[in-house]
Amino acid sequence: MSIATVSCRAQFGLSAPPVQVEVSLNAGLPVFSMVGLPATVVRESKERVRAALLHSHFEFPAGRITVSLAPADLPKSGGRFDLPIALGILMASGQLRVRRAGRELGRIEFFGELGLSGELRPVSGMFLAAVHATRAGHDVILPAANADEVSVLVQSTVAAGMRRTFIFPARHLLSVCAHLDGSAPLPPLETGEASEPTAGRDASEPSLDLRDVRGQTLAKRALVIAAAGSHSVLMIGPPGVGKSMLARRLPGLLPSLSESESLEVAAIASASGCGFQPASFGRRPVRTPHHTASAVALVGGGSRARPGEISLAHRGVLFLDELLEYDRRALEALREPLESGVVHVTRAALRAEYPAEFQLVAAMNPCPCGRLGDPGGQCRCTPPEVSRYRARVSGPLLERLDIHLEMPRVQVGEFGEPACARESSAMAASRVARARDRQVRRQGVCNARLDDARIEQHCSTDPNGHAVLERAVQQFGFSARARQRILKLARTIADLEGEDAATISAVHVSEAISYRLLDRRTG
Ligand SMILES: [Zn+2]
Repeated sequence: MSIATVSCRAQFGLSAPPVQVEVSLNAGLPVFSMVGLPATVVRESKERVRAALLHSHFEFPAGRITVSLAPADLPKSGGRFDLPIALGILMASGQLRVRRAGRELGRIEFFGELGLSGELRPVSGMFLAAVHATRAGHDVILPAANADEVSVLVQSTVAAGMRRTFIFPARHLLSVCAHLDGSAPLPPLETGEASEPTAGRDASEPSLDLRDVRGQTLAKRALVIAAAGSHSVLMIGPPGVGKSMLARRLPGLLPSLSESESLEVAAIASASGCGFQPASFGRRPVRTPHHTASAVALVGGGSRARPGEISLAHRGVLFLDELLEYDRRALEALREPLESGVVHVTRAALRAEYPAEFQLVAAMNPCPCGRLGDPGGQCRCTPPEVSRYRARVSGPLLERLDIHLEMPRVQVGEFGEPACARESSAMAASRVARARDRQVRRQGVCNARLDDARIEQHCSTDPNGHAVLERAVQQFGFSARARQRILKLARTIADLEGEDAATISAVHVSEAISYRLLDRRTG
């Protein structure tokens, strides 16, 4: 009996636990069995491994082959285990002798789905696996088609002066064998091969400048406030008024992602299975799911416990156009993560946790026909129809939207305003950056993320501000939660003004109240 062990990794949520692929060869009737809870895809790998070995002119050993993927209680899926299984069979049967692999075999991880002729096919979630492998101080051998995706990882470890490990892309089972037996070592992935990454330089599409938006002075002001405190926004206006045009300019107002934030965002994209684009590394994500998206697509889950749109929008923007068209259950599912910044996704007995600190920007029409307040339009909706329409946004969701912004159609006069009179995204972004710095220095998080205890501590109002707030709460019947949101928003408005003073004044409170249009119960 002979045994060989090869290292790989599984994936669950954002973790990539190590998996040992053990292959044991015994005399006896020819049987190829696999243990360790393999999913259907893993069972199919038997056939791929057999064909790949034969096409690569190896012998498929006669007798009893047992493959064990340990630990057994970890769910495993995908074709990534093909390469380690094939290598294990070759080693156990003495067809491959590891001589010069750069480091000991136990410190190299292998990933790759095998084509029938032995070529290596890309696997999903490779970026995430490579992050964990290099953190563990292991080298990685992976399909060449995954090289682009992990090149940003090489670049960031080199930039941080932390390169201790190497990643070797390979195209074929035979080239992996030649690397391991020392006859033809694979060249490691170098930083120069990356397509066009680098974190933090390019937070959004550069063409989307705030300066190009004509009119909408109030809306632009509200967008800057939202960016400065990471507040969620609901825009209410007729079609074509520029709601999505404005929303797409929000990322350009936000500070760049740090290197570790960029890696975190990339890891979520990798775990989602929809892949990760190296060109988008370092950019704040903007997700715009269609209104037909299910609750699972929005918040995550499904048979593979994958992250949803809210996690893919982590540290970026989630834009929901035509808010009332979304499935009500899907919208309700946003409430909890909007508050906590994380989402729990369960699959069988396992529970995955994904970060979901997204900034929600939603848009809706002002009335059923969409033409209310439009000087040229002929809205015939009655006031009760309008209030019934607006009441379709559920109260609890509405409470969690900090800014309700009415966007009227731009008046003809506003089009004449010269571009130089308008603030550019770069100018607004520097004001936003200063306001956010103030928040982080004071309390460690953005104002929108303050919990009740810290609101008490950091959002104190002066006597006039206090009086204005209490009068508004009485007059408009704001809930306790809405009141807290007003305080956080007022805090941001004060931070934007550059006031380091501990208190919030009546002006700041009044402006914050002016953005709460939809949950006024009276007045
Ligand atoms: Zn109408």
